[in-house]
Amino acid sequence: MNPTVYDVAILGSGMAGSMLGAVLARNGVKVLLIDAGVHPRFAVGESTIPYTSSLTRIIAERYEVPEIAPLASHKGIIGEISPMCGKKQNFGFVYHREGHPHDPEQINQMVIPEWQRTESHLFRQDVDAYLYHLAVRYGAVPCAGTRITGIETDPETGVVLRSDSDEEFHAKYLVDGSGFRSPVAEKFGLRDQPTRARHHSRGMFTHMVGVTPFDDAKAAQSHKKRSPWHSGTLHHVFDGGWLWVIPFDNHEHSLNSLCSVGLTLDERAFPRTGRSAQEEFDDFLRRYPEIAEQFRGATAVRPWVSTGRLQYSASDTVGERYCLTSHAAGFIDALYSRGLTNTLEVVNSLAWRLIEASRDGDWSTGRFAFIDALQQGLFDVHDVVVYCSFVAFRHYDLWNAVVRVWEATTVLPTVTLEKAYALFQDSRDDQVFRDLETRQAPGLPDPVGKDICELLTFARQTCQAVEAGTLHPAEAADRIFARIETSHCLPEPFERGDRDNKCFEATPELVDQARAWGRDKAPDHVAQLFR
Ligand SMILES: Cc1cc2nc3c(=O)[nH]c(=O)nc-3n(C[C@H](O)[C@H](O)[C@H](O)COP(=O)(O)OP(=O)(O)OC[C@H]3O[C@@H](n4cnc5c(N)ncnc54)[C@H](O)[C@@H]3O)c2cc1C
Repeated sequence: MNPTVYDVAILGSGMAGSMLGAVLARNGVKVLLIDAGVHPRFAVGESTIPYTSSLTRIIAERYEVPEIAPLASHKGIIGEISPMCGKKQNFGFVYHREGHPHDPEQINQMVIPEWQRTESHLFRQDVDAYLYHLAVRYGAVPCAGTRITGIETDPETGVVLRSDSDEEFHAKYLVDGSGFRSPVAEKFGLRDQPTRARHHSRGMFTHMVGVTPFDDAKAAQSHKKRSPWHSGTLHHVFDGGWLWVIPFDNHEHSLNSLCSVGLTLDERAFPRTGRSAQEEFDDFLRRYPEIAEQFRGATAVRPWVSTGRLQYSASDTVGERYCLTSHAAGFIDALYSRGLTNTLEVVNSLAWRLIEASRDGDWSTGRFAFIDALQQGLFDVHDVVVYCSFVAFRHYDLWNAVVRVWEATTVLPTVTLEKAYALFQDSRDDQVFRDLETRQAPGLPDPVGKDICELLTFARQTCQAVEAGTLHPAEAADRIFARIETSHCLPEPFERGDRDNKCFEATPELVDQARAWGRDKAPDHVAQLFR
């Protein structure tokens, strides 16, 4: 008997595989969705950012899968997907120095304006299962509990996959969304050895009960902030690393008492010692008693996951008849929650190419070349911003400056997506989204991508000098602030060059002022974002 030949076989039914599977199946592509495990299953990658949700909305609308749209807002998620998810009203950063009391002035916060929307803490086991079932409902053929161990590709005919129980599957194209153990990367020797990532870190993470809001801790009593820490993703940052606190219990409709907790350390300064993650975590809390207060009654409810170096990269993410998606291609660090954003960016750009290829039968590698440029660019942007942050963690002034550089990488790019979404709603012309792929900087969208890249390069060079010991961190901070102040692409009313303005919230009044700035003062290429 002739075997069934699918258009696209997808390895991995996480966010990447399942969302892509749903989009493709909805658009008539014959999809096989394979996973070694079964849903529901634990996964990290819980904190969304506005850029992620903007992409989610675009994917839902562009590919006509309305069931994806609720994922773009906290209200939609808890109403239509899972009340086990938490809300994220802010990115909170509290700076600590070992052996010193916390200085309440040393905080930073970016508030996600409630009038626009609220981001989410995804309880991934529910969200991933939802997307998986959605893909199957649209016609993707499920193949759970099947680990792929053998892969053969032929430029003329496609792909043959073999499972560890000797089943065989045939497809014209393979998308590997299997994460860091990617069998495609292994088969084709795609991993950079060593990774080209500048940043170094390792991690340990779990889910806990009994984590109390940091707002109740003594150290937090005189914080001047706009939004409670517990209403968002809290980052405790310190020389050598950071700790995330991602509560799922932080809204009135929550049915989930869990809190995601993860400690990320520079593995050169804090190498693995053979102790358990719980012992390492307890030791960390002894060194930072003000953070410990939040964990006094906390207990891990699942085994900790403890990793080696988190960074990995791939020399190529696209080849003859295959493509890796973001998490299979590479990873930097959970800092700034860019993993899902990068994942969805790839899903969005990959889907229309696969739909067209399944219609015209042209699976040539050149058609997918942009996906590689995109993924490499996304990886490098994230690497630079996290590298700079870890250097900056040694001195608050520098950290206070670098956090503004990160803000630059996320605020205006999100405006770019929102503008494209609005244009598409008016015109229904897919060209609007294809235009987003014309970029001067592969990891950031036009029209501000190039400006932001220049700012990133400046920050990286400045932080390299600090790391090399040739520049004092306070002097480095001055230089970065001066650079931000003279940047033509950041709206003046946002005052990101003002070091005392540590809590940023795009209130309607501030957005109006930014619009006026865009109209009257911004350079032409930036002004178009505010029209
Ligand atoms: C510690 C950590 C924290 C993170 N925090 C954040 C965050 O806060 N925000 C954010 O945006 N991103 C975060 N990320 C990134 C985020 O986790 C990923 O971007 C996201 O999970 C990628 O989804 P995915 O579907 O590609 O992979 P996954 O969710 O990992 O799914 C991969 C699937 O592939 C299957 N699979 C693996 N091997 C095989 C095989 N051989 N055959 C068949 N199936 C296979 C697995 O069973 C799994 O179901 C974090 C990542 C890490 C490591």
